[in-house]
Order: sequence, then C-alpha cells, then structure tokens
Amino acid sequence: MYEHHVTSSQGVHHSDKGIVIVGGGLAAARTAEQLRRSEFTGRITIVSDEEHLPYDRPPLSKEVLRKEVDDVALKPRDFYDEKGIILRLGAAATSLDTTAQTVTLADGTVLGYDELVIATGLVPRRIPAFPDLEGIRVLRSYDESMALREHASEARHAVVVGAGFIGCEVAASLRSLGVEVVLVEPQPTPLASVLGEQIGALVSRLHRAEGVDVRTGIGVAQVRGDQHVEQVVLDDGTELTADLVVVGIGSRPATEWLQGSGVEVDNGVICDETGRTSAANVWALGDVASWRDATGHQARVEHWSNVADQARVVVPAMLGQDVPDVVVVPYFWSDQYDVKIQCLGEPEATDTVHLVEDDGRKFLAYYERDGVVVGVVGGGMPGKVMKARGKIAAATPISEMLG
Ligand SMILES: Cc1cc2nc3c(=O)[nH]c(=O)nc-3n(C[C@H](O)[C@H](O)[C@H](O)COP(=O)(O)OP(=O)(O)OC[C@H]3O[C@@H](n4cnc5c(N)ncnc54)[C@H](O)[C@@H]3O)c2cc1C
Repeated sequence: MYEHHVTSSQGVHHSDKGIVIVGGGLAAARTAEQLRRSEFTGRITIVSDEEHLPYDRPPLSKEVLRKEVDDVALKPRDFYDEKGIILRLGAAATSLDTTAQTVTLADGTVLGYDELVIATGLVPRRIPAFPDLEGIRVLRSYDESMALREHASEARHAVVVGAGFIGCEVAASLRSLGVEVVLVEPQPTPLASVLGEQIGALVSRLHRAEGVDVRTGIGVAQVRGDQHVEQVVLDDGTELTADLVVVGIGSRPATEWLQGSGVEVDNGVICDETGRTSAANVWALGDVASWRDATGHQARVEHWSNVADQARVVVPAMLGQDVPDVVVVPYFWSDQYDVKIQCLGEPEATDTVHLVEDDGRKFLAYYERDGVVVGVVGGGMPGKVMKARGKIAAATPISEMLG
C-alpha cells in the first residue's frame, strides 16, 4: 500500500487531500495509473457515479452486445488496492467549489482536493419527442449494453436511429444476433460528417451486404406503441415494425455538476494544451474535455487512444514535471462485422478523398488537404493504415503517396 505523504516526490507541496479524479472511466483510470507511474505518492481518489470498477467502453457495442464478453474491467480491484488508489464507486459528484477546493457528492460527502481532475465523459442524447415506451434504448454504459443485449435476444425488428459509429456498430452486432435491422440516418450516408460521403457510401454498402436496410437522407417522425414500442414512422410516412429502437445520435459532455463552479464550459470543459482548465488546480481530459490543439483551436475528441495520449500530458503538467513534446497522430477504430474501420490522422468530410483500394468490401483512402495527406482511412486494411503514420506526421505531399 502507498502511504499518503504530504509532499509528492516532485517537490510539489500537497496536503493529504491529494488528487481527486471525478469520473470512473478510461480517463480516470489512465490518469491514476500515470500518476503512480510518475511516482506521485500522495492520495489519489477516483469518484464514480457507476458501481462498476473503471471499464472499457469499446466492447459495449461489439463483444458485450454479441454476448462474447462479460468482463470489461480495465484492471482488477487488487490493482487499485496495491497502488493505493481509493475508489468511491456509486458516488456522483454534484457540485464543485473551486475556491474552497472541495467536491460535493450526492450523499452529501464533501471531499477536499489539492488538484482535481474532471473525467466525467459523455451523456448520450435522447430524442425528447419520443414517447416513454419500453424498448427504446441508448448505449453508453455497461448496464445499458447488458440491458440492450437482453432485449435483443427477444427482439425481431430493430430500428437504429443514427448511423454514427455507435449506431453502425450496434446495427452490425444486432445482425449477428439474428435481428432484422433498419438503420435510419438523416445525412446522405453513414458517418458522413466524420469521413465524408464517399467513404460513407462504402459503409452503407457494407451494411447492405449484411442485410441491414439502410435508409439515409431521412429522419424519424414518430414512434408509436402501447407501453412497448411497436412502430417507427419515418418523415416520408413509411411505417416500420419495431420491437426495439436504439437511439445513437451522439452524446453531450457530462458537465451539469460544474454549474456555478466557475470552470469554463463550452461544448466540454475548456482546457489549454496540457489539460489545465480556467480554474486553478483543476484539470480535465477524455471525452468531456475540449483541449486547445496545435493550431490554437479548441477540439473535443471522443476516441479511446486520445485518452492515454492526454493522460501522458496532463499528469506531468499537474505535477510540475516536464511535459513530453511528442507528435501524436490521432487514431481511432470501429469494428463492423469482420471489417475493422481505422482512421489515422485528422481527416475531415471536406477533404479531397483518394480511394486507392476497393475490393467491394475492404478499402483504403487517403485524405488530402492543401496538397498534403492529412488522414488515412481503411476498412479491413490494418497494416496499410498503420504504415501511413510517418507520412501523415511528416505532412507528405499527396503526389508522393499516390505515386
Ligand atoms: C459503446 C461505445 C463504443 C466505443 N467504441 C470505440 C471504438 O471502437 N474506438 C474508439 O476509438 N473509441 C470508442 N469509444 C469511445 C471511448 O470509449 C471513449 O473515448 C472513452 O470511453 C472516453 O473515456 P472517458 O473516461 O473520457 O469517459 P467515459 O468512459 O464515459 O467515463 C466517464 C465516467 O464518468 C462517470 N461520471 C459522469 N458524471 C459523473 C459525476 N458527476 N460524478 C461521478 N462520475 C461521473 C460516468 O458514469 C463514467 O463512468 C466507444 C464509446 C462507446 C460508448
């Protein structure tokens, strides 16, 4: 067990309040781990509103939903005990006082801190106009994934509203469970706002090949049912039979508890390029945080690898150590059927897309902006995507990539 010293090994003076991390997901776990790796010996407390140990979310729409995996804990409980990381589970933070340097929890407990880390992630958006019927679900947490898979084992006709990453993955997982799926998306293709319509069309093709009824350029007008959902009506009047509706229309940062704290929030907690917020001794990372990027813009990233990249920066910044100066090429993936879609760099929907490989299912595309390659997106091409990392970091001319 770690002792709770009053001074960290870096000479930064802390009282025995230590570092409080609010949020019990990947960002919280990575921050706590990184603090111990950086030889911080003071008190670390993780406060989470969930009862579960910090766990991994990507499997929730994939292996967990497909009933292949149940345990997604990032580390066993022993790990936290050995590292002297205090877990306060099932304890939502409800308010923050940045002057007194205290966090109040739902049960009334007041925790003092020397440094506070905000890692509260996202809350899935719902559609307020939908009636309150059984069978309408969102997916963000482990409990929601387990409930959805339970429901899916009895469902025959699912409508997935929104063809972003989570909607597409849920559609794929439901198909593998034998459920008929209609995927409804107001944009012209799935993933259009992230990857552009050209690659989005290839994603549509993949889902159609697997028997998903992909309806794009249209929204949901109404959901009907008596207690349980029975029907989804589209904007053009089409009536779809449904005993399961999954809403995958994105999420918003979990920042309500920061109201009145003085911490600046604007589509996420506003941070500098090291995770420092507008309030002294308060930091933020992960999906909830909007960090200043290299171009001076605020950017909030909702991907897994970004969390570890940020933890490696925020921890030394918080401890007054040198912040590593590494060039990070952003990365994320999405598993849909047997195709791993991978995205390296920062492609945008407005970039020029060069489709360099396409066998009817798998594909590889380079994204060009101002004559250089800014991103590579592959479907089922892992080696080729990863090989492009150096080229993107070096802002290689697209002519060289294609030549
Ligand atoms: C279904 C799903 C699939 C995904 N698949 C991929 C993928 O394939 N590839 C990829 O790159 N990324 C994927 N992601 C994204 C990735 O999981 C996230 O980027 C990552 O989980 C972010 O971690 P986080 O700790 O910032 O937030 P979270 O993991 O959301 O953790 C936040 C935690 O804080 C808790 N919390 C919130 N408010 C409070 C409060 N007031 N008090 C106490 N606790 C609170 C929440 O309950 C939660 O436990 C996926 C996400 C989901 C939901």
